[in-house]
Amino acid sequence: MLAQPLVPVLVTGPASTPADVKALRALAYNIAYELGRAVTWATGTDHDVRDYAAVYTTCPVTELSTDPALLLVGEALAAGVDVGEPLSADEVVECPCGLVGRHTRIPVGEDGEPHCNECRGADVCGWCGESLEDDATLVERGTAFYPLHPACAAESFPTTGRTLVDVA
Ligand SMILES: [Zn+2]
Ligand SMILES: [Zn+2]
Repeated sequence: MLAQPLVPVLVTGPASTPADVKALRALAYNIAYELGRAVTWATGTDHDVRDYAAVYTTCPVTELSTDPALLLVGEALAAGVDVGEPLSADEVVECPCGLVGRHTRIPVGEDGEPHCNECRGADVCGWCGESLEDDATLVERGTAFYPLHPACAAESFPTTGRTLVDVA
């Protein structure tokens, strides 16, 4: 469980080809959807991992070579920041609400059942900090995705914000 809902999550991985960068952006989108929190993706090393609640990688950590990702993952491990690798097929969990945790581990409640952040009411708007309920919209700005109330999206990113539907 992530204790600080407003602290964003960082996505990293190989970033040397357009396909790599596309994979980074797609993973950031998916994790923003799964976790209901802001997610930034890194193509370089100019991120302080201590500013993030966790670091997720687009490939297994053992497959990272000399990419900036290797440095960021090393810094995260040294700083005690959680590092999440891609889940294997048998680790993928579906919440009763239908949300599938393909990259993130859906928290298991005291009843032994998975409850995603949305079901737990732990999704929060990246702008106002209030619970997102069911009406989240994902907004992309620069190299980050923000889950926001639609009204907050209009208020916070009136001209540059856009709702994404086309991340493949
Ligand atoms: Zn759920
Ligand atoms: Zn809001």
